[in-house]
Amino acid sequence: MRTQVCIIGGGPSGLLLSQLLDRAGIDTVVLERRSRDYVLSRIRAGVLESGTVGMLEKAGIATRAHAEGLPHTGTYLAVQNTGFRIDFDALIGKQVLVYGQTEVTRDLYDAREKAGGIVIHDLDGVELHDLDTDAPHVTYVKDGTTHRIDCDYVAGCDGSHGPSRQAIPKDVLTEFERVYPFGWLGVMADLPPVSHELIYANHPRGFALASMRSPTRSRYYIQAPVDDPLDKWTDDAFWDEFRRRLPHDSAEALITGPTIEKSIAPLRSYVADPMKWGRLFLVGDAAHIVPPTGAKGLNLAVSDVHYLFEALTSHYRDGDDHGIETYSQTALKRVWNAIRFSWWFTTTMHRFPGQESFDQAIQDSELRNLQTSVNAQTVFSENYVGMPY
Ligand SMILES: Cc1cc2nc3c(=O)[nH]c(=O)nc-3n(C[C@H](O)[C@H](O)[C@H](O)COP(=O)(O)OP(=O)(O)OC[C@H]3O[C@@H](n4cnc5c(N)ncnc54)[C@H](O)[C@@H]3O)c2cc1C
Repeated sequence: MRTQVCIIGGGPSGLLLSQLLDRAGIDTVVLERRSRDYVLSRIRAGVLESGTVGMLEKAGIATRAHAEGLPHTGTYLAVQNTGFRIDFDALIGKQVLVYGQTEVTRDLYDAREKAGGIVIHDLDGVELHDLDTDAPHVTYVKDGTTHRIDCDYVAGCDGSHGPSRQAIPKDVLTEFERVYPFGWLGVMADLPPVSHELIYANHPRGFALASMRSPTRSRYYIQAPVDDPLDKWTDDAFWDEFRRRLPHDSAEALITGPTIEKSIAPLRSYVADPMKWGRLFLVGDAAHIVPPTGAKGLNLAVSDVHYLFEALTSHYRDGDDHGIETYSQTALKRVWNAIRFSWWFTTTMHRFPGQESFDQAIQDSELRNLQTSVNAQTVFSENYVGMPY
């Protein structure tokens, strides 16, 4: 088989890139290791930056997001059970949209199917070849047979454990990493959210976040040791701990019940540099990971897609390779800004093991500054809603 751009990974970044390129008349094949149902069962991100929503519109898949998504014009931060609000709309005239990654992915799969796009599922053994030549190719195994795809470019959209990043020689790649000494215990529950906007809580017992996916589905998290056995966290144990960390009025309003999903996720920041090698481009989680505190993971994947889409269309339409040559530098500039914001927000909101009184006083001071300074709230809003592309 031959295609112009071979896309490895059928998560949000691979599908969005494929959808945009297809609409621009550029041919793609998407290789996804898992089944479509498996990909759609993964519960992940849920807060879309305004730029991400713009990209969904550009890809022609924003109708359901606009109809069913929840626009949020601000967010609450809480310190020791007392909250204050940051009003994005009043400060910078922008908002975010709460719409689950699962739904974005479903909309993308439906659109690819409608357009007759090629997405090959349930495969194994993806290998990238001759990336530093003008004629790269990708091989994979399906139903015991090895297949080959010749292409002009390879887009590595295969998440943090895929083969694309590993295809870059070790002496070319620089990796930056910070592992945080705690995880997030997250639950999903078919219960009305405790607040119509998100609540980020800094509490002596640890961080908590009240989020949501819809008016009837809540997504809640608490900071917890990453190696805690999950069976220690019965539903009752979770609700008790979550309630303790919320602002008092929210704790009183919290509706509890059975959870439908429960898991503990580790937190880390990671960046691979460069994001381009030869004819390979890394996109999304294949190149970088952020702790979920700033809600940036999916949004960063989408901004990478923006830069790569612009670069590839300039190449095919105008014969202009400037975007291709500078993809890594351009994408990394925005990535590092989100890495910085997510690191800062994580550091400010969590209890660290061995945290000393000095560290605590700095956290308190950061949050006081955020509560009282319009300038600090404006900077927070710009970063939370997402920097322009
Ligand atoms: C448990 C979890 C919770 C998260 N929660 C949040 C959150 O609350 N907020 C937030 O902003 N972000 C969150 N994120 C991050 C966000 O979900 C990711 O940033 C986003 O999924 C990145 O999209 P992607 O397409 O780059 O990668 P992925 O979504 O990881 O997609 C990569 C795809 O590549 C496929 N693949 C992997 N290896 C191969 C292979 N060898 N061959 C073919 N295909 C392959 C995978 O099956 C997958 O479908 C979370 C991530 C995880 C893992």
